[in-house]
Formats: sequence, structure tokens, C-alpha cells
Amino acid sequence: MPHVAVDDKLREECGVLGIFARGLDVVRLGYFGLFALQHRGQESAGLAVSAGEGIALHKGLGLVSEAFNESHIAALAATNPHIALGHVRYSTAGPSDLDNSQPLYDSGDYDQGDGSPSRTIPLALAHNGNLVGMERLKAELAAQGAVFGTTSDSELILVLLRQYLTADLKEALIMALNKVRGAYSLVLCTNNELIGVRDPQGFRPLCLGRIGDGYILASESAAIEALGGELWRDVEPGEMVVIDDTGVHFSRFAEAKPSSCIFEYVYFARNDSIIDGQNVYEARVALGRRLAEEQPVIADLVISVPDSGTPAAIGYAACSQLPYVEGLVKNRYVGRTFIQPGQALRELKVRLKFTPNPSVVRGKRIIIIDDSIVRGTTMKLLVSTLRQAGASEIHVRVSCPPYIAPCHFGIDTPSTVELVATRYDTEGIRRMIGADSLGYLSKEGMLKVLAGGQRQFCLGCFTGEYPLPLPHEERAEARRAEEDWGDVRG
Ligand code: AMP
Repeated sequence: MPHVAVDDKLREECGVLGIFARGLDVVRLGYFGLFALQHRGQESAGLAVSAGEGIALHKGLGLVSEAFNESHIAALAATNPHIALGHVRYSTAGPSDLDNSQPLYDSGDYDQGDGSPSRTIPLALAHNGNLVGMERLKAELAAQGAVFGTTSDSELILVLLRQYLTADLKEALIMALNKVRGAYSLVLCTNNELIGVRDPQGFRPLCLGRIGDGYILASESAAIEALGGELWRDVEPGEMVVIDDTGVHFSRFAEAKPSSCIFEYVYFARNDSIIDGQNVYEARVALGRRLAEEQPVIADLVISVPDSGTPAAIGYAACSQLPYVEGLVKNRYVGRTFIQPGQALRELKVRLKFTPNPSVVRGKRIIIIDDSIVRGTTMKLLVSTLRQAGASEIHVRVSCPPYIAPCHFGIDTPSTVELVATRYDTEGIRRMIGADSLGYLSKEGMLKVLAGGQRQFCLGCFTGEYPLPLPHEERAEARRAEEDWGDVRG
């Protein structure tokens, strides 16, 4: 049975990219930039380009290497564009069809509303994040005649933009953004400008870099570096960046209420990215060091669940003065294991993905570090295969707190009942995965490590408390207000 999220809604992990650069091959830069963001989404990939007249687009299902072949690239490059917009997507519930893949495109004839002839403003949009509580607005717009061609929330922003485009594009975008809530790191383009927007909480990352005489917007700085560009700065929460032939223009469309996703540092982002001034690798090593201080254990060596657990294992080993060794060999040709239809297939994939090196682990007391335990599938299998390979003791340490609640802001998570930490306490999870001991990093320790406790993060997956009310909380609040009003009236 396919994985179904708690409220059956589409959830997406995505990567976005935009390039504005005259004189550079923005098509190939965009294509290679998507490879650098491939870890953020593997179900579809797309590029939209413009040379000033209209927008050309190619999207395909699967990895970037599957979605594009040389003729797709050649066809886009033949238009000689100076703007490219890219997206990689990982939808987990809901259809992973081409309609839902991005960039979304609107060829756009806009009625000026004053009787004058309509203007044509082609638009393409790439979105990372997840809007929340948009059902009513969508229903209202549909009742007014708006046609939604996808089941993706991202389209709502395009539909709103279309509605407001009698005004100037920037104003229309601000009006549209004022109507939506949730996580959105967006990159949009018309035929002559590239725009980047980060929601007021800054849930998902978005940064700006320079390349030649041009500019790059990307989910992660690793993509900018990979293209030979240079990171300039993060787009700030509530900020809009407009890039055109006159340069880069920054403006604020909403007050910043920073609450960026802490899980980007724990698992999701690439090690070599710098998000909001913090290098992800260094953050992970520091989380591992802190974990060693909080959860020490006597053992012979430290191993990691590669690759995302490796920096924390390096930090843990350094702090506990134990050797860090490669106890598990990763098969890099097996994709990410998290969302596989059915438990049996998920287990088989974990088995294929990680193989213990018996010569390293036999007879040894092992500390195995992973960045997170979600369902517990990975760790349960690893503990049993490490035992089969002869490890004498297996101590599991996790460089984040227990994962107890779904993400509503753009990272896929299983339904609450599937999260192992909602069913068992730490001792119960230890028994379930079969380890000799289990220890998690504390929430306080994690916050201390990341920017010395000075920054605000969304900790929803670890606390179940979110920076924005969820739709059912809003409905309950409205009901309470209604009841209070009833009391006053009564
Ligand atoms: P699980 O096997 O369900 O306990 O998942 C934990 C494993 O999946 C760990 O090795 C994590 O590195 C990885 N992981 C955690 N969150 C995600 C995610 N959102 N998508 C894919 N993999 C993840």
C-alpha cells in the first residue's frame, strides 16, 4: 500500500533553482544545478527558460538524469535564454504525475480589467514547502471559476497571481502571498525577470549567489558552489529578491518571524551547504559532539549510518576519543529508503543499501550513530545485521531528539502512528530495534549547538508544536471564539 500522510495531503520535499545570467549557458548550468539539489527530490525534475520572449519548458518524471536527455537540453538551449528556472520534486502521498511536477507554467493572458486589451505575461514558478489550510481559499477560487490543473498547493500562488496581475507583477505577488500561509521558498520567472521569495518564517532555505555577471537563487548554497558561483547571502524570511537587467532589488513583503526548519540541519540538507550562515557539516559534527557529552557509553569504536549520520559520528568519536571507522558499506546506487511502498520492500531496500563490514565489527562493542529514527525500520535492520556480522555490543545514538510529530511545512513524514517514538518510550524503542542501549540528543542540547540557542527554529517534528496554527487548530479556535461570543450574548 502506498504511504499515506496523516491527513492524506500532498507533501513535498523539493529543491528550487533560478539563474539570471546573460552570456552564460543557463540551460546547462540549470541542468547541472539540479543535480546538486537532487537529494531534495527524486520524483520529477524540470527546467523553464526564457530569452525574453515567452517561456520554454521541459519536465520529466524521475531523477534529473532520467527526466532530461541531450535533445531536451539542446531544444531549450536553442532558444538562447538568459533566464532558467529549475525544480526537483519528491511527492510522497498523492500522484507523482507530470501535472504535479514543476516548474508550473502559465502562458498568461491577463485582462487589465479596464477594458483595454489584455497583456501577456508568461510565468513559471518553482516552490519548495507546503502551504497550510488553503482548502477554503481554493474552494472559493474554484467557485469563482478558477481552474486548477494540479493537486499541488503551489498552483494556488499562480492562480492568485493571475487574479491580481492587473497590477504590477511585484505588487500582484505581494497580494497573492498575503493570501497564503505556510512554507514557501519560491523562485519565479517571467520573460524578463527572476524573483525569489522566502516565507516570513523562512521554513525552507533559499539563498542568492553570483555567477559571472549574473545571479543564482537556490535552495542550497551547495548548488551555487557546484556551478562555480559564489554564495552572496541567504534570502531573509519575508524578503523578496527581484533580478532583472538593471540588477538585484531587495524588498520586504512581510515582517520576518524566523522559524526555520531544524531538520534541514539534522538530515535534509547537503553537508556542504551553508544555511542562514551555518555550515551544515559543522552543525552535524557539533551535534555529534554534544551527543557524546550527553549520552556517553563504553565501547570500542564508532560507526555511522552513511551518509547523513557520518558527520555526527565523526563528532561523537572525536569527543569520546574513540576511533571512527566505516563499519557499514553503503550501496550508493539504491535510492533513499524512506518512502517505499510497504514495510517488506522498505526492509529489503535497507538491507541492499547498507552492508556491515564483518572484519571491522566482529567481536567489537559498537556505537552506531544515525541522524534520526523515524519509523525505526533502518535501525532495527542495521542492529540485526551488525549482530549477524559478529558485533558483541551495539549501542545506538541519535543526533536529534525523538521524532514525534509530522511535518506540515514541506518535509515528508509518515503518519503519526507510524512514528515509532509516538508508540514507545526510549526503552521500548531500544527493545524494538534490539540494541544494547539507545540514547537521543536532547532538545536543549540540539538548540544549544545550533547557534548557541539564539536562533528561532521550527521544532514541530520534535515537539508537535508548530510556529503557525494548523487548520484544525484554527477551526477549534474559531469555534471557541464563537462559543465565547455566545456566552457574551447569552
Ligand atoms: P526510519 O528507517 O523510518 O527510522 O528512518 C530513519 C532513516 O531515514 C535515517 O537513516 C534517516 O537518515 C532517514 N530519514 C530521516 N528523515 C527522512 C526523510 N524525511 N526522508 C528520507 N529519509 C529520511
